[in-house]
Amino acid sequence: MNVLIIYAHPNPSSFNAALKDAAVDALKANGHSVDVSDLYAMKFDPVFKAEDYTQRVDKDSFHFYREALHAHETGSYASDILGEMKKVDRADLIIFQFPIWFSSWPAIIKGWIDRVFQAGYAFRYDAMYDTGLLKGKKVLLSITTGAPEVMYSNQGNAGDIYEMLRILSHVSFEVVGLEVLPPHLIFDVASMDRERGIAEIERYKDFLIAMVAT
Ligand SMILES: Cc1cc2nc3c(=O)[nH]c(=O)nc-3n(C[C@H](O)[C@H](O)[C@H](O)COP(=O)(O)OP(=O)(O)OC[C@H]3O[C@@H](n4cnc5c(N)ncnc54)[C@H](O)[C@@H]3O)c2cc1C
Repeated sequence: MNVLIIYAHPNPSSFNAALKDAAVDALKANGHSVDVSDLYAMKFDPVFKAEDYTQRVDKDSFHFYREALHAHETGSYASDILGEMKKVDRADLIIFQFPIWFSSWPAIIKGWIDRVFQAGYAFRYDAMYDTGLLKGKKVLLSITTGAPEVMYSNQGNAGDIYEMLRILSHVSFEVVGLEVLPPHLIFDVASMDRERGIAEIERYKDFLIAMVAT
């Protein structure tokens, strides 16, 4: 299987970095190929904008859908978008690795989705959900939280995180045809010691290898 890891953390020696590295090692050791987009290291620009279409149909008035379809037909998306699309093309599975920030994904992940899952490439208005253009590929969220699990339950202030992820996944991934695998969450990382960290990394590796085997 070809796996693409979209990884977002500003600290290269963070726990999230260790999870990303462990995934690369475990997947490769099990015969899979892995690409990584390290968004902070790449200084990935997360801002969706008219300049992302380098051969505009209409330079006076910006209609994103028309421009996106034209860019798809002519291969004229911005070069960093084209680079990410090539990685997505190769991938059977996309893993997003990130810490929860304000109960969602970091802005750089949202921006990657905004700019890479373009109209024409990932969906059209007549090709969404069951007919989304990335159909046949899978996606998996690997997430850490600072807060304990109870905060992200129905009894907690932030509500049921699994329900939140189900909705986010539906509107961001299922809409483009991706099959959503069960997420992997590690709670309470803010107060975690290194010993538990090492055990959690092993648990994640086992989870991942079981997932790619299905
Ligand atoms: C802007 C912002 C908003 C946030 N909002 C939320 C929120 O809404 N909800 C929430 O729950 N949290 C929130 N947080 C907290 C955030 O989710 C956590 O800080 C993050 O999940 C922790 O992951 P990390 O990779 O940064 O861990 P790190 O801080 O890098 O590491 C945590 C611990 O992991 C262990 N560790 C690190 N590296 C290793 C290793 N190689 N092997 C074994 N153990 C290791 C160490 O014991 C370390 O102390 C927010 C943080 C920010 C910056």
